[in-house]
Amino acid sequence: MIYVKDLYKNFGKTPVLSGINQHFKKGEVTVIIGPSGSGKSTLLRCLNLLEAPTSGSIIFDGQNITDKKADINKIRQRMGMVFQQFNLFPHNNVINNIMLAPVHVKRMPQQDIYKRGLELLSRVGLSSKEKDYPASLSGGQKQRIAIARALAMDPEVMLFDEPTSALDPEMVGEVLDVIKNLIKEGMTMVIVTHEMGFAREVGDRILFMDRGTILEEGTPEEVFSNPKHQRTIEFLSKVL
Ligand code: ATP
Ligand code: MG
Repeated sequence: MIYVKDLYKNFGKTPVLSGINQHFKKGEVTVIIGPSGSGKSTLLRCLNLLEAPTSGSIIFDGQNITDKKADINKIRQRMGMVFQQFNLFPHNNVINNIMLAPVHVKRMPQQDIYKRGLELLSRVGLSSKEKDYPASLSGGQKQRIAIARALAMDPEVMLFDEPTSALDPEMVGEVLDVIKNLIKEGMTMVIVTHEMGFAREVGDRILFMDRGTILEEGTPEEVFSNPKHQRTIEFLSKVL
């Protein structure tokens, strides 16, 4: 579904991604782990062009999206993204947060979009919060709304950048449960996380990033139980 070929990204003169080659397959859950500053967020943001690659290409569903002629907005609509800091629109209530993008973009009656919004709210267990504003929600609720909002565009792939890192520990579970349900439904995902138990449980593939490269990749069993590289072993010894 997404092929990444020889991807490089520099910020100024600093190399941040140094030759990434990957294939993210349809229906597959890829989990990216690695130390702070290794380039995990940058890689994720390159996938939907929130960052422009310095060189290399990204082929999404057969289309080279790094081509100058590619319609970035159209492509982004097909990829849902969820951030650590939720990024809800503070001046919109919950249902409008969810409906905003589809109302602007989808050629569908507003009533149908509203119905779909309510369905999504119920799917993340927050039907009662329809008219509430983000400021009145807990962190876990905000993140569940952010997930519902991303789903409202019917994305083909979901990108999660540390979706539970800003949450109080007792709220991590409710957000991970929503993500697990999406996985059960077959959603393609790329997830950056520091939740190693979760990574091991849901990942079809684990990528260990270090200094802008994917140093090691494999099944959870391979990476967590049998890491090959000294850097992976050191990292896992600190986080497990
Ligand atoms: P963390 O686990 O802390 O989120 P990460 O693996 O996601 O780290 P990135 O955010 O991708 O790491 O950052 C990789 C490197 O790129 C870091 O050294 C960071 O300082 C640098 N960097 C990221 N974004 C920018 C930017 N917009 N401008 C300049 N440097 C940046
Ligand atoms: Mg990051």
